[in-house]
Amino acid sequence: MTYDKSTMNELHWLIDMVQTIEVGLVVLDRNYDIQLWNGFMENHSGISPNSIKGANLFEQFEYLPATWLKQKMESVFLLKNRAFISWEQRPYVFKFNNYRPITGRADFMYQNVTLLPLSSLTGQITHISMIIYDVTDVAINRLQLKAANERLEHLSQTDGLSQLHNRRHWQQCMQHEFDRHSRYGSPTTLVMFDIDHFKRINDTYGHIAGDKVIQHVSHILRQSLRETDCAGRYGGEEFSVILSNTSAEDALKFAERYREKIAASQMRYENAKISVTVSIGICEILPEFDNSAQWLASVDSALYLAKQAGRNRCVIYRPRAEIH
Ligand code: GH3
Ligand code: MG
Ligand code: MG
Repeated sequence: MTYDKSTMNELHWLIDMVQTIEVGLVVLDRNYDIQLWNGFMENHSGISPNSIKGANLFEQFEYLPATWLKQKMESVFLLKNRAFISWEQRPYVFKFNNYRPITGRADFMYQNVTLLPLSSLTGQITHISMIIYDVTDVAINRLQLKAANERLEHLSQTDGLSQLHNRRHWQQCMQHEFDRHSRYGSPTTLVMFDIDHFKRINDTYGHIAGDKVIQHVSHILRQSLRETDCAGRYGGEEFSVILSNTSAEDALKFAERYREKIAASQMRYENAKISVTVSIGICEILPEFDNSAQWLASVDSALYLAKQAGRNRCVIYRPRAEIH
């Protein structure tokens, strides 16, 4: 008799725990009809165990991704294996509101779900259980960390004044493009430009006006680029763009358009209207380049020639450069 009493006690405790545990427990039969719905599920759904017992899971919750979930559940029935659904794969299975004050930023409860096969006394899998864990805190922390890391990565790669890539990141892009060219051989062209007589702007209007001119030319540059073009602020008022899948001749068309746009534009600063021009060097990767440093030195020499030839112009690097 003592044995019976203790068994009854254990059973009572177990049922109590199932009801009060801070984890969702659902038992489904072979037809996906709900056989058990614990206190956690009741609290978060507002549906009592009595009113849901026997109801079909997918009829009760029409938003559930039936095909996908049934496929997972079928494999639990057939293979007698557990299956997991993580919040990263799908933020939730049951759409429960999130009321936690700490994680007030989430509108719904993020969930990890385990599907367990339940065997009958004869060893057959007649039911499965769903165990639903509230992982909202973990998910929100992880998502915030990810967002912070992405912001940091962006900041560490971006020049604050121009919002273009900073020099270090741009150099990585250049090396990457050079290596890509070595492998695939598609034409790749480097365009480097420098604002003409920039010192005069600083001297005449002051450093702040100079900064605004840098922002102005950067802004026009960003508007002129394609998704795949990598543009950076190389130095004080020197900028560089890598045009992938672009020959020197095509890059010249881009550079001329940009040069004309800059020359035609005006920047207002206090009562002044400031105009600037840019000189541009262009260099496609040539077979004789062994490394990216040669590519960079060559575009620099084309830019130097553009300055020498009178500024406000583009020069394509050739072993003997041509002036346009
Ligand atoms: P050139 O046509 O030969 O390029 O003449 P330049 O006057 O532009 O000569 P240079 O390129 O040598 O001078 C660049 C000047 O840009 C020197 C520096 O004082 C100024 N400068 C560099 N970085 C910044 C910056 O971030 N803001 C401002 N306002 N000025 C800068
Ligand atoms: Mg300059
Ligand atoms: Mg310069």
